[in-house]
Amino acid sequence: MTPLSPPPSPADFGFEVEHRLERGGSVGSHDRPLGRAGTIRTPHGDIQTPAFIPVGTKATVKAMLPATVRELGGQAVLANAYHLFLQPGSDVVDEAGGLGRFMNWDGPTFTDSGGFQVMSLGVGFKKVISMDENAHRSDEVIAKNKERLAHVDEDGVTFKSFINGDRHRFTPEVSMRIQHQLGADIIFAFDECTTLMNTRAYQEDSVDRTARWAVRCLDEHARQTAERGHRPYQALFGVVQGAQYEDLRRKAARGLAEMTGDEAPEQRFDGFGLGGALEKTELGTICAWMTDELPEDKPRHLLGISEPDDLFAGIAAGADTFDCVAPSRQARGGTMYSSRGRINAKAGAQRRRFEPLDPECDCYTCENTTAAYLHHLFKAKEMLASTLATIHNERFIVRLVERIRQSIIDGDFAELRDEVLGRQYGPEFAREAAARYAS
Ligand SMILES: [Zn+2]
Repeated sequence: MTPLSPPPSPADFGFEVEHRLERGGSVGSHDRPLGRAGTIRTPHGDIQTPAFIPVGTKATVKAMLPATVRELGGQAVLANAYHLFLQPGSDVVDEAGGLGRFMNWDGPTFTDSGGFQVMSLGVGFKKVISMDENAHRSDEVIAKNKERLAHVDEDGVTFKSFINGDRHRFTPEVSMRIQHQLGADIIFAFDECTTLMNTRAYQEDSVDRTARWAVRCLDEHARQTAERGHRPYQALFGVVQGAQYEDLRRKAARGLAEMTGDEAPEQRFDGFGLGGALEKTELGTICAWMTDELPEDKPRHLLGISEPDDLFAGIAAGADTFDCVAPSRQARGGTMYSSRGRINAKAGAQRRRFEPLDPECDCYTCENTTAAYLHHLFKAKEMLASTLATIHNERFIVRLVERIRQSIIDGDFAELRDEVLGRQYGPEFAREAAARYAS
């Protein structure tokens, strides 16, 4: 007889802050640094934070074996509820034993709620956006452009499948059920994603709607957790919206921090997602408003961020984990990160460069191949180009965040930031970035 395993419990998930950023990380008007290093405990293992989480949208980090993701330092994988709902179907993943077992990844997993994908098929949904483009779009124009594929109402979102045009409906309850079938260790509440071009009035309504949806997510999460006692506990993160408005961001964060379910008053959020479009230069400041209002003892995930300067800003402002498709998407297109800034692997300058792509990198690609070989693979359209390029870009970002974590422990965060940003973008950029931190 196999002994009965204990029922899933919120105690199976946890977060401990182990080190705090002592200096060089204050943001905007904040007099104390908000950054920290810690450990997230999940039923499938620990995540040392800050950490970059590689994205495996459709239960695969494109062009990579799970073992390779592990080797390059990936501690967890983040998949997408919307894509897996459409294909192969969240019921199929459930029958397979959940996302991790389905894709042969034995570490921690995340799924995002599908909200961003469901709603981002219109215009203006770039995650980090510069305000000069399309600054005058109104809610109506945005809604009209979005309407082709998605429509938001009080209860949820109706949208057309990007695969075959079939109509589907996501509500907070549907998103929770799908994410429970997928079975990731960390899942996200269903939120409305707006753009920076929506009006202030729309953002206010949207933040209130997202709060009502969050309560429904907590209730459905409690129901699913009780019904599915055969599966490990899944931690639910609430998502903070509010665009570029300080009062809305703070109100949204405070609301989620204190929120409980209506029918399940004992159910609270286990962590928080920092979501929505952000103006790049304001990223640290906006993050700090949110983390200021959130409890210290729960993890915070900054959604859709991986650019080196954004990582420093987000970590200084108190974000613990990050995900983004950019490192692998850019790799497949031949845009490679390096310790001296971006390299186009397809450029003629690489054709006879018989040295590692980035001599300072410790990834498989840089330790075993040359820039000339990678250039050749891209030119010949060989599949291995995607694999080698993705290994390098993912390792570059994962390692950068590992180094930032170490700098928090060692107390030299500001030195690392100035060095890395100076080499990435030039000394003037690094000075401007440093000026946004108090000291
Ligand atoms: Zn490399």
